[in-house]
Amino acid sequence: MTETPRPTDSHLHDVLQQIANEAQDLFGRGEVANYIPALAEVPARRFGMALAMVDGSSYTVGDAHTPFSLQSITKLFTFVLALKAVGEDLWTRVGREPSGAAFNSMVQLESERGIPRNPFINAGALVVTDILTSRYAHMDLAMLGALRRLTDDPALTWNVRIAKSERDTAHRNMALAYFMKSYGNFHNPPELVLDNYCRQCATEMTCTQLAQATMFLANGGVDLAKGSQPGEHVLSADAARRVNALMLTCGAYDASGDFAYRIGLPIKTGVGGGIVAIAPGRGTISVWSPELDAKGNSVLGAFALERLVQLTGWNHD
Ligand code: GLU
Repeated sequence: MTETPRPTDSHLHDVLQQIANEAQDLFGRGEVANYIPALAEVPARRFGMALAMVDGSSYTVGDAHTPFSLQSITKLFTFVLALKAVGEDLWTRVGREPSGAAFNSMVQLESERGIPRNPFINAGALVVTDILTSRYAHMDLAMLGALRRLTDDPALTWNVRIAKSERDTAHRNMALAYFMKSYGNFHNPPELVLDNYCRQCATEMTCTQLAQATMFLANGGVDLAKGSQPGEHVLSADAARRVNALMLTCGAYDASGDFAYRIGLPIKTGVGGGIVAIAPGRGTISVWSPELDAKGNSVLGAFALERLVQLTGWNHD
C-alpha cells in the first residue's frame, strides 16, 4: 500500500489552494436552499474554507471571511449550552441515535412518543431550544453571548431578515413543536421557542470565526479564544469527546453514515451551506459553499473535507 504523503502545517496553505481549485468544477451540481425565502437570495457560486490549529496557527482560502447563515450548525452550540445547563438529564428529552430520516422529518416522533432521535435533527434541536428557553430569561441573547465569547467578536449577531423569513414560513417546525407538546415533551409556548429558534438559526459567522468557535472540541474541551480566561474549559474533555461522537454519528442528517465513510471526522452541516469538522488534537476545519445536495448538505463543502482528509490523513491517526 502506498502512503499518502503528509503535508506539514507549512504546506497547509497549498493544500487549501489545491482543494479550492478542484472544487470549482463542482459548481452547478447542487441548489441553494430555497424553503426559507431569504436564504435563496445568497449567491450560489461561493467557496470559503478555514483551518484553525490547536497550536494557534490558521489558514484560509476563498470566501473564508464572508459571513454566512449558520442554520443547523447552531444546533451544535445550543446542544453544548443545554448539556452544560442540565447535564445528562438532557437525555430524558432527546435521544442520541442517528435518525436515518430527513432533517425536518416527523415520522419517528409518533412511534417514539415525542422523543426526537437526536439533538441535531430539527425536532431534537427544537427540544434543546425549549430547554434553553426554560433556563434563560432571554435564550436568544444567552446563545449570542456564548458565541461572542467563543469568536471574540462582540458584534456577532443574527440576520434579522433571515430570521423573520424563516419565522414567517416555519409551519413544519411549528407542527413538530406542537406534536411534541402533545406528548408532554415541550414545556414553553411553541411560538416563543420558534422565535428563539429562528434567531438562533439565522446567526451569521465567517469560516474563520466558525473554526475558532469550535476549537474547544478539538482541544479537549478547552477554548483558545482571546476573550476567555487562559485555558477556559467550555466542556470537560470527556464531554467534548461525547459531543464529537454525536457529530460523527448524527451531524449530517440522513447522510451521516456517508459522511463518516467519506470523511471520518465529527462534523455538523447546515442548509446555509456551511460545514464544520473537528480533527481532535489537531484543529478545526470550516467550509462554506451554498449549493446543497438533495439531503441538504453542501456539495463543495463535502468534497473539500473529503479531499482534506485524503491529502492530510487527519481522519486516521
Ligand atoms: N433553520 C433550518 C430549519 O429549521 C435549519 C435546517 C438546517 O440547517 O438543516 O429548517
